[in-house]
Amino acid sequence: MTSEQFTDSTVTAMVEAAIAAVKASADTTVLERLRVQYLGKNGLVTAQLKRIGQLPGAERRAFGQVVNRAKEVIQAGIERRLEWLTAQQLDQQLLEDSVDISLPGRTMPPGTLHPITRTLRRIETIFSRLGFQVADGPEIEDEYHNFEALNIPRHHPARAMHDTFYVAKNVLLRTHTSPVQIRYMHSHEPPLYIIAPGKVYRCDSDVTHTPMFHQIEGLVVDRDISFADLKGVLVYFLREFFEQNDLKVKFRPSYFPFTEPSAEVDMGCVFCYGEGCRVCGHTGWIEILGCGMVHPEVFRHAHVDHGKYTGYAFGMGVERLTMLRYGVGDLRLFFENDLDFLSQFK
Ligand SMILES: [Zn+2]
Repeated sequence: MTSEQFTDSTVTAMVEAAIAAVKASADTTVLERLRVQYLGKNGLVTAQLKRIGQLPGAERRAFGQVVNRAKEVIQAGIERRLEWLTAQQLDQQLLEDSVDISLPGRTMPPGTLHPITRTLRRIETIFSRLGFQVADGPEIEDEYHNFEALNIPRHHPARAMHDTFYVAKNVLLRTHTSPVQIRYMHSHEPPLYIIAPGKVYRCDSDVTHTPMFHQIEGLVVDRDISFADLKGVLVYFLREFFEQNDLKVKFRPSYFPFTEPSAEVDMGCVFCYGEGCRVCGHTGWIEILGCGMVHPEVFRHAHVDHGKYTGYAFGMGVERLTMLRYGVGDLRLFFENDLDFLSQFK
């Protein structure tokens, strides 16, 4: 209650009623309604001013001052209340919006490397320890680099086996990483020690084949390179890759157009240790890669002096190595982007 007394009892009553209502107002909406009710153009204070006309001339000035003073008192009351209500609202809002730091956070799981990427990096690490460089080549190739220079002339039966995607006449998606050998020999002088990892494409799709897959090519060209060097490097690689120091490895005579002699490499089954299981077809052995000594015809195309240098080459499927290392049964799992599957490879 205001203690201020006005010389006019009606005005005093009005101010007391106004201040009481203002103090009781619970929010700014009610307060605004009161402001209009008392101080608005058609409000109660204005109505008091209209009484001036009924007063004797001598009293008018004094009464005008009384009403103006009443107006100031009500106005000040409303402003104080508005300040207080606004502060209250802000406190309330801060309380509601506050962060409960004791709640458990929403976690964003860190990504993992794709198992194929992990295998590629692992292979690169092992071969770089042996002094191999990583080489690269185009995925869109021409027939010369993909076939002819690798001793696979037109009408050679091996061309039909490659199920090639043709982009245009003489232009294709490389069917293997071997063309990188040719490109590297064209642009570098021996000694050459390279591996060439990358994507290759074949028009083929079932449980054990996908239209795109990864290979790693290896090529060594130097003086006095023999099959024994090839064998030593591959045995070392397979034992490192599968982390089995006593892994059995055997070389079986085979045929590839770009190597002579050629061999398929088998290793002891990494699941049953040679006992025989479903993965190895109960033989105890698993076919793992192909290799051989670089064919003289390939050296001729690559302009390497075969009288001075010899070399070897090998190639392996990255998906196959990954499946064997992690025990994955279905090739297609690598390409389905299933996070439950992929997040297991940490
Ligand atoms: Zn087995």
